Amino acid sequence: MTSLTFLGATGQVTGSCYLLETGSKRILLDCGLFQGSKETEKQNAAAFPFDPAGIDAVVLSHSHLDHCGRLPKLLKDGFKGAVFLTEASFPLLELMLMDAAHLQLRDTEWENKRRERAGKSLLEPLYSVADVEALLTLRKPVAYGVETPLFPGLSVSFHEAGHILGSSIVRLRIQDNDKTKTLVFSGDLGNAHSPLLRDPSVLTEADVLLLESTYGDRDHKPLENTLQELREALTEAANTGGNVIIPAFAVGRTQDLIYWLGKLQRQGGVPQQQIYLDSPMAISASNIYAENVHLFNIDDPEFTKVAPGGWQAWLTGLIYSKTAEESMAVNRITGGAIIIAGSGMCTGGRIRHHLKYNLWRHNAHIIIAGFQAEGTLGRAIVDGKKSRLKILGAEVNVAAKVHTLGALSAHADQSQLLQWAHHFKAPNPRLYLVHGEKAATLSLQTCFKRTGWEAHIPCVGEKIII
Ligand SMILES: [Zn+2]
Ligand SMILES: [Zn+2]
Repeated sequence: MTSLTFLGATGQVTGSCYLLETGSKRILLDCGLFQGSKETEKQNAAAFPFDPAGIDAVVLSHSHLDHCGRLPKLLKDGFKGAVFLTEASFPLLELMLMDAAHLQLRDTEWENKRRERAGKSLLEPLYSVADVEALLTLRKPVAYGVETPLFPGLSVSFHEAGHILGSSIVRLRIQDNDKTKTLVFSGDLGNAHSPLLRDPSVLTEADVLLLESTYGDRDHKPLENTLQELREALTEAANTGGNVIIPAFAVGRTQDLIYWLGKLQRQGGVPQQQIYLDSPMAISASNIYAENVHLFNIDDPEFTKVAPGGWQAWLTGLIYSKTAEESMAVNRITGGAIIIAGSGMCTGGRIRHHLKYNLWRHNAHIIIAGFQAEGTLGRAIVDGKKSRLKILGAEVNVAAKVHTLGALSAHADQSQLLQWAHHFKAPNPRLYLVHGEKAATLSLQTCFKRTGWEAHIPCVGEKIII
């Protein structure tokens, strides 16, 4: 008998984790962090609802923290198996987990200072750099499309998901009493309009399908409008002499932005001469992207011609700012520059310094190109309800012009999700909607119902027989 238990990204977006049990083997699909409010993030420290030492292998869809961020904890708690992932996820996993370990260490130290003063017991970080290093030795990279045996009677293959570099749709083939069952897990499906990566692969056969539903309730704005808005914002900023500040996620969004800026530059749409990428992590991620151009789509011959020279060959004026001193020098620029920095939702990182130095300037422009969760500084800027914000201990007047660009999402929208799922041949696979907030999942369920396909919304802890 084979079963699957829904343990995370179930009724919510983050914490992706599913337990497959077949014969004597136990396999985990993803082992992600819960992210968002304090209450949500508390779940990360809780014990796993299974014995980590009893997990034989992990299959990882991609290297975003909400899919891989608890792997070092799994190891710390006893896991010794292999972690199967795509070749491009291999270096990205290291980048993401090392950064996560350092951030947790810093946050815990900060919190413990407070606790010490209050006479409270001290906290331990979720895991250490040593745990991450040990976990990384367990990685087993696999090329896209190659059927790879995990154990007798169980094999995995990864297929392009087009979401971030190395992202995959996971297909498991399970031998169960002379019958072969196929489980397909969509992972995070990419936006078909994203510029660099290939579109999500089309799969046509499955017995059980797990489908993400992040944007299950809406379609993205047309890309042309968004690019036009970007172009106008850059021109306006150049005319008024202010800086353009862009908060961006290090993996995926930053590279998409650099691509679009290079494209606009060729059309005369980028008057700025200096474009700073002020984020060591985004620089590392961009280098990993540049080493994997063979995984990009090849729709743009202009880009393909220049790509071997790297991002700085593609975007004239792109400056990598790595050290703290270099970053502080960027703070002193009062106008005429584009500054891309993290974190993507302005919850930490160098972007906060740039906002402190620019948000109060009437001629500055802030471009929001990604999802901003409730409770974050990025969301407060988008909402525009407050005329003053507290940033790094300073009261900052909000005078800059804020532009929200809607079409640069890294996720498939409602129409794209439906279209992808309808490539599966009849009889329809048993369908489970995961990785979405309630409204998005319910809305997508209704869409499937209209086409005569019953989609289930699982509960946390629910176990199904495959
Ligand atoms: Zn993702
Ligand atoms: Zn995700």
